[in-house]
Amino acid sequence: MRVVLMGPPGAGKGTQASRLVETFGMTHLSSGDIFRAEKASGSDLGQKLADYMTRGELVPDEIVVEMMAKAITNVDGGLLLDGFPRTVAQAEALDKTLEQADAPLDAVVVITADDEAIVDRITGRRSCPKCGKGFHVKFMPSEKGGYCDACDGEIELTQRGDDKEETVRQRLSAYKAQTEPVIDYYRKSDDVEVVEVDGMQSPEAVTKDMVAALEKLQG
Ligand code: AMP
Repeated sequence: MRVVLMGPPGAGKGTQASRLVETFGMTHLSSGDIFRAEKASGSDLGQKLADYMTRGELVPDEIVVEMMAKAITNVDGGLLLDGFPRTVAQAEALDKTLEQADAPLDAVVVITADDEAIVDRITGRRSCPKCGKGFHVKFMPSEKGGYCDACDGEIELTQRGDDKEETVRQRLSAYKAQTEPVIDYYRKSDDVEVVEVDGMQSPEAVTKDMVAALEKLQG
């Protein structure tokens, strides 16, 4: 099954993606993760990507499409796209890539969430730079305050640069202006099923709804 997972930043796409991948055995491709890995490699391209990401702006379509087409072409079988496509031009390019591979999309799952809940969720996220464990200052605090409890309180937790409130609001407005039209693009298509899931529920309830919808599509 090939699925696009959409939703505003902070809707829980990352968490849900790992659950779907376990349930349906798909390869998870997150454009944000791919870009952060490129940034961490220290390449010129990575630096260019970082400039857009720290401002909360979308990376230009030409760069995104080239990087994602390369990643998608390397996947055999089930695919879960997360964070891509984010513009109509990217969705059109994705259609072409999948058409050439004779591997069309089956579904688009949209996780919805309120703006203020999103700001709360994202600005509270913290992670351990050593072991990668994720925390939330309100919803999942570390027992060691601002330090990682899995690393015996020795490592200070950090916040992703683009998780600051001003950047989150910028990312939200980019979502509304550039990404919401992608949902309409798929709604107009006869070949793809668009499923909406309420992301304000508990993560478990969101997973349950998504799995039920995808199982129904699988038949
Ligand atoms: P994410 O982890 O999905 O929230 O992505 C983090 C940042 O990477 C975004 O705020 C954008 O700057 C950039 N990005 C990720 N995916 C895309 C995409 N499909 N198109 C443009 N920019 C993207």
